[in-house]
Amino acid sequence: EDDRATTLPRPKDTTEPHANSSGYDLRDVSTKAVLMSARDRFRDTQWSFGEGVSITNPTNPSEIVGSVTFVAKAGVDAAITRAKPWSAEASTRASILISAADGLEATAPELLALLAREAGKTAEDAIAELREAADFLRYYASFASDDAAPLGIVAAIAPWNFPLAIFIGEVAGPLAAGNAVIAKPAESTPLIAMRVTQILHDAGVPETALQTLPGEGVVVGAALTSDPRIDGIVFTGSTATAQAIHRSAAQHLDPAAPLVAETGGINAMIVDSTALPEQAVRDVLASSFQSAGQRCSALRVLFVQSDIYDPFVRLLKDAMAELRMGNPWDLSTDVGPVIDERARKGLFDYIAEHDPLFQLDIPDVGLFVPPTLIEVDGYADVSREVFGPVLHVTRFEAKDIPSIIERINARDYSLTFGLHTRIDGRVEETKRALRVGNIYINRNQIGAVVGVQPFGGSALSGTGPKAGGPDYVARFTRQNVRRDDY
Ligand code: GLU
Repeated sequence: EDDRATTLPRPKDTTEPHANSSGYDLRDVSTKAVLMSARDRFRDTQWSFGEGVSITNPTNPSEIVGSVTFVAKAGVDAAITRAKPWSAEASTRASILISAADGLEATAPELLALLAREAGKTAEDAIAELREAADFLRYYASFASDDAAPLGIVAAIAPWNFPLAIFIGEVAGPLAAGNAVIAKPAESTPLIAMRVTQILHDAGVPETALQTLPGEGVVVGAALTSDPRIDGIVFTGSTATAQAIHRSAAQHLDPAAPLVAETGGINAMIVDSTALPEQAVRDVLASSFQSAGQRCSALRVLFVQSDIYDPFVRLLKDAMAELRMGNPWDLSTDVGPVIDERARKGLFDYIAEHDPLFQLDIPDVGLFVPPTLIEVDGYADVSREVFGPVLHVTRFEAKDIPSIIERINARDYSLTFGLHTRIDGRVEETKRALRVGNIYINRNQIGAVVGVQPFGGSALSGTGPKAGGPDYVARFTRQNVRRDDY
């Protein structure tokens, strides 16, 4: 299946597209050149968007990356008063969003540096994220239409785990539809959001159509989602927060106004005894430990068929031992830090309650959590989403597959599912019976691609429409109201 984003942060003098299966190649000279230039030019930069809150580097928490002023409740009120839906016609909106995508690519070294230093992103993750952000802008631009009326003012509340791509996606969808957007980046990653907001403004998005308000969830998020002047909300984060937003918004949002929420999952993969073990191990590593497991798509519970369980787990442990943890700047780093001290402590507490089968050593400095393998009796033993590099493994017999699927469906909390098998009938049967957002066959289960693999789940995992899918932009318009009637 196709993989990864289609745009490339590469110097203009290279014409060859990256053709490997993951869509980028760190051995590629042009990719490397961009990264090296990012490192050299932005190693010591401090980004300042006001004062008050210092943002530190999770790889080295004593290093300050920049500062920002958190907005208070009165600032939210002022922003809502100032907000004006984007009245430019659709073709203008589209071309401005497309030139913002060009702007992101032209700013690649700086954005890659921010991704590494503010969010702890490895080179591989940072490049993929930059490309995904550009893809969101270009793809959603293609759905801008003069036929449908925008909602009005949309609040976009973004997560720290994709502080560039998901931030941009949440902003670009409603903007393509002609809304005013008030965005609240995550508390730990406001700098990159402020920087790309400048890029969008430079490309021509009016300052009244896009305002970014860094601040605390309990202040800015709460003030936005409870204000009756807000006409729609888009959110990515935990299920509990989505439910709180839902309750708060229910007090004032029109019944038909959208809350578009993308939340978590307890995602599983089945590896049966016909699978190619080396390929399955490689895909398990990517699914569980890439981005230090801080993706809602990440694999959390691995089912391995009993007759291959012991050799497979041995192979997996050997492969885990080869993972390199360290500074995201180093091209050989596979696993970077987790986002902050609170996340690190929560993960260590969780690991301490279990008796891991395998655990990697961690660097002395930095907010690192070791890739960890924990054996469990079954899916039910994993009671919540553990948002980090922790993989649970369990064995199954072939006859158990229907009951595994039943339990996953009953929980209604899955964004992704992976299946490694060479039995075609099993693929068809599983696809038919499972109710999860995105199913991946004989590959890893992360890294959905804008326009190719729209991403999102249902029930406790989110509301839809899927991000990067054809229904997204329309969700930020007034259904049944043409712009002319409005
Ligand atoms: N879209 C990402 C992926 O497919 C996950 C997004 C998230 O973690 O919220 O891996």
